[in-house]
Amino acid sequence: MDKRFIYADNAATTAVSEEVLEAMLPYFREGYGNASSIYKLGRDAQRAVENAREKVAKALGAEPREIFFTSCGSEADNWAIKGTAELLEKKGKKHIITSVFEHHAVLHTTEYLEKHGFDITYIPVSDKGLIDPEEIRKAIRDDTALVSIMYANNEIGTIQPISEIASICNEKGVLFHTDAVQAVGHVDIDVHKQGIDMLSLSGHKIHAQKGIGVLYIRKGIVLPNLIHGGGQERGKRAGTENVPAIVGLGTAIEVATRNISEKNAVIIPRRNKLIDNILKLPYTRLNGDRDKRLPGNVNISFEGVEGESLLLMLDMNGICASSGSACTSGSLDPSHVLLSIGLKHEVAHGSLRLSIEDDITDDDVDYILEVIPKVVKHLRDMSPVWEKMMKGEKYE
Ligand code: PLP
Repeated sequence: MDKRFIYADNAATTAVSEEVLEAMLPYFREGYGNASSIYKLGRDAQRAVENAREKVAKALGAEPREIFFTSCGSEADNWAIKGTAELLEKKGKKHIITSVFEHHAVLHTTEYLEKHGFDITYIPVSDKGLIDPEEIRKAIRDDTALVSIMYANNEIGTIQPISEIASICNEKGVLFHTDAVQAVGHVDIDVHKQGIDMLSLSGHKIHAQKGIGVLYIRKGIVLPNLIHGGGQERGKRAGTENVPAIVGLGTAIEVATRNISEKNAVIIPRRNKLIDNILKLPYTRLNGDRDKRLPGNVNISFEGVEGESLLLMLDMNGICASSGSACTSGSLDPSHVLLSIGLKHEVAHGSLRLSIEDDITDDDVDYILEVIPKVVKHLRDMSPVWEKMMKGEKYE
C-alpha cells in the first residue's frame, strides 16, 4: 500500500487557498494602513474592507450594511443569541428555542443564559438528524425571543429545512438566527428570500484564514453593541479591523459560492462511493440523512472500534479525518450530536467523519477505501468488545 497525504477533514478547517492568500498579501505589505485613518493608505484599507463586505452581502443575498465582521463563527453565534436576549428581555421575552445538537458555540451560550434566568427549549432531532419545523411552531410562546437552528450539522452534515423554519418564525413574529458555519459555500443561501433574520459564518471553513467571521443582521434589528470602543463596524463591534483577514474572507466567499452546483456534481458521487463501500463492512451504520446532507460529509459508526484509534491509524496512513467535531476531540465524552440521534455510547465512540471537497480525486477515494477496511479489521481483531460481540456475549 503506497503512503500518501489526503486531507478529508474540511469541516474542521480548510487550507487558505492561493487566491485568498494573493488577495490578502498586499494588506500585510504596502497596504498596511489603519482603515480609520483619513490619508490615502487608510482610505485604501477602508475601501478594501467595504469591498469585502459587498462580496459577503452578495454571496448571502443581503445588503452590505447588514454584514458585520467578527473574529470567528463562535463570536457571531454569541452576539446573535446574547444580543437578542438582552434586546428582548426588556420586553419580557425570556424564552429561546434551539436544538439539542447545535454546535457548542450555541449550546454553551444558551446554557449561560439559562443561568441568567432564560428558559430554553431544546428541540429534539429525528434518528436521521433532522428537525421537524412543526416542533418549532409548537414550541413558540408569547415570550419567545429567538429561535436559533443550525443550517447544517458539523458532525453528521444534515441540512435543516431552514426556509420553512424561518417562515414559521416570521409568521409568529419571532426572530430567527441560523448558524450557517458549515453550510456556506455548500448550499445556496439567500437570507432575504429565505426570511433569515441573523446568520453566522466562519472564514476558516471556506478557505479563508482562521479568526474571521461574520454576523449578518437584518436591517431593522438593533442588537446591542458587542464590543465598546471605537466606531468600527458602525460602532457595533469596536476594534481596528483585521484588514487582510476581511479581504481574504471576501475573496473566499466569492469563490466558495461561485459554482456550488458544479462543485457538488463532482463531490456527491465520490461521497456516495465512500458511503456505499464503507457500509459494506459488517456492523456499520451511516449517521445522518442519506440525501439531506452536506455534499462532502460522510459519517459512519463502526461497532467494536474505538474512534480515536481509528483516527490515529488513518493518520499513520496519511489520511486526516475526525471522529466528532474538532472542538470536542480530546474529550472522552461521546459526541452530543451522535447521542441526540439515538446512538448508544459505545457506538458513538466508534464513529468516523470524513469531510471532502472537490479536490479529492477518484484515486484518493480508492485509497481511502483500501485503507479503512484494513484498519477496521486490525482494530476489531484487537478489541475485547468486538470479541464479545462476535460470541454473542453482553458487553459495555
Ligand atoms: N458553528 C459550527 C456549526 C461549527 O462547525 C463551528 C466550528 O467548527 C463553529 C460554529 C465555530 O466557528 P469558529 O471556529 O469560527 O469559532
